[in-house]
Formats: sequence, structure tokens, C-alpha cells
Amino acid sequence: MKKISEFVSEIEESVTLSASKRARALKNEGIDIIDLTLGQPDFQTPKAIGDAAITAIKDGRASFYTQATGLPELKKAIADYFRRYYGYVPAPDEILATSGAKFALYAYFLALIDSGDEVLIPAPYWVSYVEQVKMAGGVPAIVRTSEAGHFKVSVDQLEAARTDKTRILVLNSPSNPTGIIYTRAELTALGNWAVAHDIEILADDIYHQLVYNGATFTPLSSLGAAIRAKTTVIGGVSKTYSMTGWRIGLAVGSPEIISAMGKIASQTTSNPTSVSQYAAIQAFRTADVDIEPFRAAFEERLNTIYPLLATISGFEVVKPDGAFYFFVNVRKAMRLTGFTDVTAFSDALLEKAHVAVVTGAGFGSSEHIRLSYATDLESLKKAIGRIKKFIESN
Ligand code: PMP
Ligand code: GLU
Repeated sequence: MKKISEFVSEIEESVTLSASKRARALKNEGIDIIDLTLGQPDFQTPKAIGDAAITAIKDGRASFYTQATGLPELKKAIADYFRRYYGYVPAPDEILATSGAKFALYAYFLALIDSGDEVLIPAPYWVSYVEQVKMAGGVPAIVRTSEAGHFKVSVDQLEAARTDKTRILVLNSPSNPTGIIYTRAELTALGNWAVAHDIEILADDIYHQLVYNGATFTPLSSLGAAIRAKTTVIGGVSKTYSMTGWRIGLAVGSPEIISAMGKIASQTTSNPTSVSQYAAIQAFRTADVDIEPFRAAFEERLNTIYPLLATISGFEVVKPDGAFYFFVNVRKAMRLTGFTDVTAFSDALLEKAHVAVVTGAGFGSSEHIRLSYATDLESLKKAIGRIKKFIESN
């Protein structure tokens, strides 16, 4: 047996990726699995974006290292994208392009956390925050939110969790896994609280263009100079432009933090893949019209599947306003089927109903499962039928 570092031994594998790996393995064995695990749009990247990458290769622009923090043209495209969606234009030293948003998050935590620093993470949370904070030597301080409060964290809850070690507050709106979106008033209160206590804010806005049924996204970083100075925005092309495989993320924040993150990138990834940067320039600049059909398709799936979920005995869901997940409370369904552990319940859905979902355990819940609706409507309807049958026959 090889000795593996204590550092790695203490990290959990991403539950979203491991659930998807299991589903894929069963599919490869010939089993007809409906895979609702991954938060990955099921559309091809818009053609204009792929064409921009091909042209960059053909023109000989993609062969070499680029600036560690991203091509100047990409930073310009990101600045313009911020003008359109955030109402302000970040300077080049406030922008970092990264190898996926996931790496941007990790570089952020590494840049800010000293050993023992605490990071406030409202639960349910996206799986990687907790592990990445630990990987950076920090201590995740989980703040539970309730379904009754629409999974939103309040200033009072944060104040109760604050200590003299609190360094960062993580906010993710629209949220993975719940799909909730904070209002302007809520964000203003949270932002002012963080400013008052000298706490940095990480705003993971990666789903900000994926909002439905008239819901609106408010960028926290646009709520005044004081809040903006404390906020680092994380985003990227994966979800909105259907570009998960291209691996381009972004960070926009104060020059000190962006420069520290850039230093980490220079010693690890060197630069985000050149060809993907050319694709991302096209995405940020002009692809907005190409992606409206994606958003509209997610909205149709949400509105079609949400009422069907309510017909499954023991399934309860807060209707999401954004992202592309249902975070279903299955406490009653578990009781009906004799399960006490939500991961065992998810495993049974995979093995018996042949529907792959993600256990809530990785998101900080012992009574939820996550279903991604970044899958075609027919498969989603079929999955609902299978889950229903499984619960009724148990
Ligand atoms: N943040 C959230 C909330 C996500 O759901 C994801 C999806 N993987 C990411 C960040 C990372 O995105 P990517 O690394 O694909 O850019
Ligand atoms: N963020 C996506 C999800 O939650 C992709 C998987 C991952 O990066 O963990 O499913």
C-alpha cells in the first residue's frame, strides 16, 4: 500500500462527480439508467463559440502559454460582460480568468485563509465549498437554513455563528442545490453586516443568467462601493453557455485578492487553456442571444416537472427560481419505504429504480436528494414515473 498524505486522506471526493461516475459505470454495463446527477447542461456549446476556438487554432493563436491571469482580450470581454450584467466595469487588475470556476474558488480560499480561519457557509451548500476550505487550512462554519425560510440565511443566524476567527462569508445565489435567489433587500442586509464586521464575501454567481418565471438576479457586488470592496465574484462559462468541458471560470474582486489568486494560478495552472480562452471571449462578448433557448428549455422543464414531483408520495420541494436543480425533501418518502439514511435511499433509487440522483449528504442535508433538470423532458418524465413506482411498491 502506498502512503497517501494526510491532507488528501481527509478530503472527500466530490459527491456530484462520484454519483455521475457510478451512473456512467452502470450505463456502460448496459443498464438503462436515467442520470439526474450532474449539473451539466445537455446542449452542445453554441456554434459561434466553437468556431472562435477553431479559428484561433487555425490562425496559430492557441499554441503557446498565455498570461497566467488570462488573455487581455478575455479580460476586456469579461469587463464588458460585467458592464452588461453587473452595471460596473472592473479594471484589468480586478479580473482573473481561471481553469474553471472551481479552481477560482480554490485559489480564493488559498489566497485568504490562514490556518484556523473560519468560513461561514450557509447549508444546504454546493459540495466543494466545505472540502476546499478544509484543503486551504480553514474551518467551515456551517449555518443551517430552513425550508420554511426558503433556505435563506439571515443576519441573525450569521451573527450567532460569528467568532473572532470569522474571515469569509460564502453566498451562492442562485443556489446550487436549492435554486433560491436572494432579493436585493436581503443581500443589502447581508452585505452591510459583512462590511461592518470586516468579513470578506465570496459571491458565487455562476448561475446568474439562469433564472426563471420572471425572477430577477441582483448582483451583491453592485450594491454600493463598500460592499463591492469586500466582495469577490466567481463566475464562468460552464453553466450558461453549456461549456462545462472547456474549463473557463472568472474571478472579479479587489486588486489585492485578484493578484494573490493570480500568483497561485502562476504556480499551478500557468494559464487557463488558450483555446478555451478564445472560445470564452466569444461567449462573453456575443453569445447572449444563442443561450436564451437554453434558459427557456430549463424553465419549461422546471414548470413541467415541478408539479409532477408533488405527485410522488413523500416528496416535498421548494420551487426553485434559478439554476437547474430540485432539492427534494424525502424525509416522508424515506419513512414510507423504510429508509433512515438518505444516501442509502439514493442508492436504492439508482439500483432499483434506475434513476441516478445525488444524496443530500454532500450538500449538508440528511433528508434531501438533488435532481438535476439539465436533462431532456422525456427522460425527466420517465424518471418521475420510475421513482413513483419504486415508492409505491415498497
Ligand atoms: N459553483 C457552483 C455553485 C457550481 O455548481 C459549479 C459547478 N460545477 C461551480 C462553481 C464550478 O463550475 P466550473 O468549475 O465548471 O466552472
Ligand atoms: N457543479 C456541478 C454539480 O453540482 C458539476 C459537478 C461538480 O463540479 O461537482 O453537479
